[in-house]
Amino acid sequence: MTDLGTSNSQTTTSPRGKTNLVGCSQSELTMVARQLGEREFHAKQLWHWIYHRGVHDFDSMTDLSRNFRSTLEDGYALRRPLVTREQTSNDGTRKWLIRFEDGQEAEAVFIPEDNRGTVCISSQVGCTLNCRFCHTGTQRLVRNLSSSEMVGQFMLARDSYGEWPTPKTARRRLSNIVLMGMGEPLYNFDAVSEAISILTAGNGIAISKRRITLSTAGVVPDIRRCGEVLGINLAVSLHSADDDIRTAIMPINKKHPLKDLMAACRDYPGISNARRITFEYVMLKDVNDSPADARALVRLLREIPSKINIIPFNPWPGAPYEASSMEAMIRFRTILTDKGLTAPIRAPRGQDILAACGQLRTDSKRIKKHG
Ligand code: SAH
Repeated sequence: MTDLGTSNSQTTTSPRGKTNLVGCSQSELTMVARQLGEREFHAKQLWHWIYHRGVHDFDSMTDLSRNFRSTLEDGYALRRPLVTREQTSNDGTRKWLIRFEDGQEAEAVFIPEDNRGTVCISSQVGCTLNCRFCHTGTQRLVRNLSSSEMVGQFMLARDSYGEWPTPKTARRRLSNIVLMGMGEPLYNFDAVSEAISILTAGNGIAISKRRITLSTAGVVPDIRRCGEVLGINLAVSLHSADDDIRTAIMPINKKHPLKDLMAACRDYPGISNARRITFEYVMLKDVNDSPADARALVRLLREIPSKINIIPFNPWPGAPYEASSMEAMIRFRTILTDKGLTAPIRAPRGQDILAACGQLRTDSKRIKKHG
């Protein structure tokens, strides 16, 4: 179930035979330099050009010898995943439909806010979880994305805003990353881990781990590793404090019920009042939005430093649920805030371009593989 059969290898070779260096780790670049008979420190320069400067061709790498540049040119490429469509919402949200080298598609989204800008990236094409309120779950085709494909999503977002070379933290428009797009990131742990190490390396893209959040539907056995190995923030798609309701809307709850999920949250490495777990709660009319549901949520989260994001349900064609009324959402929130919990109602973003949570779904299943 969790092994979707794609390799985590960073060096992907395209049908045109050129190995892509975008997504390569420092040690993979060192191997490339070595194979080409170059000294190892040139790999550091390569890294800098790729991830700090964001260049698209070897010719721009002016401190490498002409000879090295032309051998690179012959056998290697610097490709991001292909953007087949870019749409910008009237609220500034921007969405990219992306095609990978095998023709599979996924989406990435940029969400500007007052004091930060968040790039939401996908970790899989499609999703195996089948959460009943999520559009992505209706997509049949699923595969893991490689770390190169994940890093590539962030890089194409930077391309789109011309944000190269990597600016100082305070001046960045694209300041944060959430692994909250299509797919379940904890089912693709190794590639996510590799992507995080590239995205956070100080001499490259340099996004701090504190500005990266991984959202999971509750893959309990991997939650601890997420804190220990990745060291990034955790968001949990909770959506109900009752096992029966949660199982009805999220089949994963059968395998990993609330008791286990909450134990993993309590033990999440590094959590404190300064570094809380975010719980996402999509408001579904007459399903999980009553005052009793809110009180159950207060009880469930009692011992966990938490922030609750109350998310208005974003409808999609054929969805089996309706959005809760604003009145029901405010009533729900008040019960939480009266008990001292932080619980903003998240404003839906990018709705006019179907870029909001749970609306991401590509038509890749209709695209035939090229022979
Ligand atoms: N698999 C991961 C990450 C992808 S989902 C996870 O489940 O957390 C990202 C967020 O969007 C989740 O909180 C999900 O519950 C929410 N979401 C999915 N469909 C939605 C919809 N139709 N309206 C609002 N939020 C939705």
